[in-house]
Amino acid sequence: MGKEIFYGIIPGILIFLLFLGVNIAPFVVFGAVLAGIYFLMARQGGGNMGGLATRNKSSRHTVPKTNVTFADIGGQERAKKELKESLDFLIHKDKIEQYGIRPIKGVLLAGPPGTGKTLMAKAAANYTNSAFLAASGSQFVEMYVGVGAQRIREMFKEIRTMAEKNGQSSGIIFIDEIDVIGGKREGQQQREYDQTLNQLLTEMDGIATNDKPRILVMAATNRKDMLDSALLRPGRFDRHVTVDLPDKAARQQILTIHTENKPLADNVILEQIAQETFGFSGAQLESVANEAAIYAMRDNASKIERKHFSYAVDKVMMGEKVDREATGEEKRRVAMHELGHAIASELVRPGSVSQVTLSPRGQALGYVRQNPMEDRYLYTRDALEKQIIVCLAGAVSEEIYYGGRSTGSKNDFEQALGMAQEIVQSGMSSLGIVNMKLVDNNRVHEEVNRLLENLLEQTREMLKKYDHVYQTSVSILLEQEVLHGDFFRDLLKQDTANAELAM
Ligand code: ADP
Repeated sequence: MGKEIFYGIIPGILIFLLFLGVNIAPFVVFGAVLAGIYFLMARQGGGNMGGLATRNKSSRHTVPKTNVTFADIGGQERAKKELKESLDFLIHKDKIEQYGIRPIKGVLLAGPPGTGKTLMAKAAANYTNSAFLAASGSQFVEMYVGVGAQRIREMFKEIRTMAEKNGQSSGIIFIDEIDVIGGKREGQQQREYDQTLNQLLTEMDGIATNDKPRILVMAATNRKDMLDSALLRPGRFDRHVTVDLPDKAARQQILTIHTENKPLADNVILEQIAQETFGFSGAQLESVANEAAIYAMRDNASKIERKHFSYAVDKVMMGEKVDREATGEEKRRVAMHELGHAIASELVRPGSVSQVTLSPRGQALGYVRQNPMEDRYLYTRDALEKQIIVCLAGAVSEEIYYGGRSTGSKNDFEQALGMAQEIVQSGMSSLGIVNMKLVDNNRVHEEVNRLLENLLEQTREMLKKYDHVYQTSVSILLEQEVLHGDFFRDLLKQDTANAELAM
């Protein structure tokens, strides 16, 4: 009621002032500006400025108790073990007090996107029976100074209330993309994020061993190197858990988790799919399982079959099939380009071609799917050079059959350049061990060029001999749009045998 009376009095006073001959224009303008700011802040949801400013909690994800457990996370054994060890500090609170140990206040999960960092935080809340509150760094970046800091304060208040209400003795706050607010501070310029970050640090510094409920802050980032050192100091985020892309066994586990509720045909071997999905994150594998089920449903199949998984892997890797039709001549050129990759791939690594496809998907007009033999984390110069040859072979094919390159090789060259640079940076080139900061850029550039020119020449020599394979495969590829690895290998073998006979 008070508010209505207040709103009524204002025009009354204004009319009275007008009646007295006072110029009320400045008051009206000032009032309008104030009302505008008030309205905008209320919309942003951060302001605690009375009745209108209802807090917008929808952007935040509050879960009193999550139902994700560590068993729902495939692989990541080391990360899970490290995290559980940190969490024991929450579980055995009394012991910690007894020994006078400083509590762990922050755990930083570092790793690429989609590797299960959010899942880990949820599982941690479940494991410790804690209240759980999640937010993302980008939600704290606002136009108005102070709003982010206020949101941090509110979050700490909210988690305490939530834990108390649920009778839980601890609470976990999870901040995804912490690098958005916790990036390195350069120079003196003040940014809105600084206040937000300061507030977070203040709140964390305020956490004490005997706090009830005990608060643990978990944060995730894929740019640990970008974080401000203030965040990583002891007593703040001093526990770091690295979450990596899954290896083959982990990929199989993740696929098992995500296909548990799906009808699989007998010809689906998850180990094989795990083998083909080198470099996929947990999120991508979840997507593969889901897309395969969608393809099976579209086919009206009673079970999800091997081919559905194959389509799904392609879709997740390359994007949805597009209806873009290439012209006849363009199609032939793409086919020759892809066959170049495929022949080179088989020659440098026999058995490596899984499929050659000529249907446009995402940005690519065609592609070769390679079977990774095994997960590798170390590459020798020889292995890198072989992979560069495979990359260059597309452009070399175009040169041989069309007399020049096309824009279709841009991506290949980027990859080849990346690998050539890797050779130089790892001290495997003729420059020896180099300090990349001190070495002359031109020298690196020249060395990379020399490496690539050499490999281009080798690729040319290699592919020239396989004209027959090109000609037979291209007509099949143009007609059927796919060429399976085994069939392609047979063609190549036959051709090699014929060539040897002719000699
Ligand atoms: P991040 O926080 O690292 O970006 P998320 O935890 O949000 O990744 O993962 C997104 C989704 O991907 C999860 O909901 C889950 O379906 C799937 N996922 C990711 N990693 C795993 C894993 N290790 N085991 C099972 N599922 C996973």
